Amino acid sequence: MENFIAFPVKLAYNYLIMLIDTHCHLDFKDFDADRDEVVDRALKAGVSRIVNVASSIEGSRRSVDLADKYDMVYATVGVHPHEAGSVTDSVIADIKLLAKSAKVVAVGEVGLDYYRCLTSKEVQTAAFKRFIHLARDLDLPLIIHAREADRDTLDIIKRESPRGLRGVMHCFSGSSDFMKECLDLGLFISFTANITFKKADSLRMVARDIPTERLLLETDAPFLAPQAMRGSRNEPAYITHLAGEWSRLLDLSKEDVARITSHNANSLFKLKLDESSKIAYEIRDSLYLNITNRCSNSCYFCVRNQTSFVKGHNLKIDREPSTQDIIKAVDSAKKFKEIVFCGYGEPTLRLDMIKEVAGAFKKEGMAKVRVVTNGQGDLINSRPIATELAGLVDRVSVSLNTDTPELYDKYCKSEFGRAAYPAIISFIKDCVRNKIEVEITFLDLPGVDLKKCENIAEELKAKFRSRSLGEVG
Ligand code: SF4
Repeated sequence: MENFIAFPVKLAYNYLIMLIDTHCHLDFKDFDADRDEVVDRALKAGVSRIVNVASSIEGSRRSVDLADKYDMVYATVGVHPHEAGSVTDSVIADIKLLAKSAKVVAVGEVGLDYYRCLTSKEVQTAAFKRFIHLARDLDLPLIIHAREADRDTLDIIKRESPRGLRGVMHCFSGSSDFMKECLDLGLFISFTANITFKKADSLRMVARDIPTERLLLETDAPFLAPQAMRGSRNEPAYITHLAGEWSRLLDLSKEDVARITSHNANSLFKLKLDESSKIAYEIRDSLYLNITNRCSNSCYFCVRNQTSFVKGHNLKIDREPSTQDIIKAVDSAKKFKEIVFCGYGEPTLRLDMIKEVAGAFKKEGMAKVRVVTNGQGDLINSRPIATELAGLVDRVSVSLNTDTPELYDKYCKSEFGRAAYPAIISFIKDCVRNKIEVEITFLDLPGVDLKKCENIAEELKAKFRSRSLGEVG
């Protein structure tokens, strides 16, 4: 298994807020007088990329020009539904040509607007269909505008692109049901500062349910200035207000919001962000240590089967770090509430490292230490390990996942086969005996009886935690 390629791992992690404004109209005349200053203020506020979204054929040209002028600006090409009447064959041909420019990252904004309905519904529908096909032909994501046209927008996407669509529903202000249907189609959801408005309680309720890996931030500047700046022209620098609101809504730090949404934007629009892998990374006020990607299980639901990213951190390491690498990477650990040996792999495969690193932290009087484990450490190390962890590790989070050995075997496919489940139970008992706090995690998998799981945790004198599939970090 030790076949890792020697390749430098990024040891440092940074706490800078680097936000991406995925939708603004810098090309509008509202910015003619001070565009350079606006871009400069955005950079100073921690905005690393701006996607300038076109609304017309002239806007598409301006968008490409702005992307040429400013390093941090990327362009889209497309025609807003208000201008749908202008979408002719020659406009589509021009847009196709413009899309070949190096920094064009999407087609948009396009869609349906029945609120102002400046063009007939039929004309808007025809233009929208053409842009869906164009985005697919160009292999670019689509930026969708839907105002008072949710049902028709979804129906057209389903008809024209039955296998889903790469894109984003921009300036989301719809219902939970609409959000769910958008997510089912594979779309990202982008919110503006409308969630900061005083009277936006119902939108904030909807927003709280978004899976963070589908969330994008946008200003839609010059429109929709955040609550604190209501009445003024909006600009990309104000996206920090939006990040602050999301930090409150999702109980994440502003850095978490920035990193997660920037990663999402980069994965949709390919904005050339540096997302090197990390061995030490923070989520909320905890520091996580990524010491191995190996595991004794092959759980069918493992996050590693789908992505290298957890909460915006790239955890796919090319080589396993040494103890010194880890200690060097966490020399400011005192600021964290907890140090966590994480679960993007099974940490007890490197038991000696856990002991050495946790021992070093304890000597320095550093934070509490937790190990996230599949509980198979005794089998992995061919001896009971809880006594070795006692005094070094304060808490363990054990993924028992199911209420029966049979279901565990079915879903988790341990290399130890049927021996795994009883060994995990025995490890939990040993930890409790050795005064290590234990939390057992169960999953809402088909056939798993969560009530029985709760009883198992209670009998083992451990904390019970249930988790939905797909909920990570
Ligand atoms: S135990 Fe955790 S890391 Fe290992 S395969 Fe299962 S989900 Fe993945």
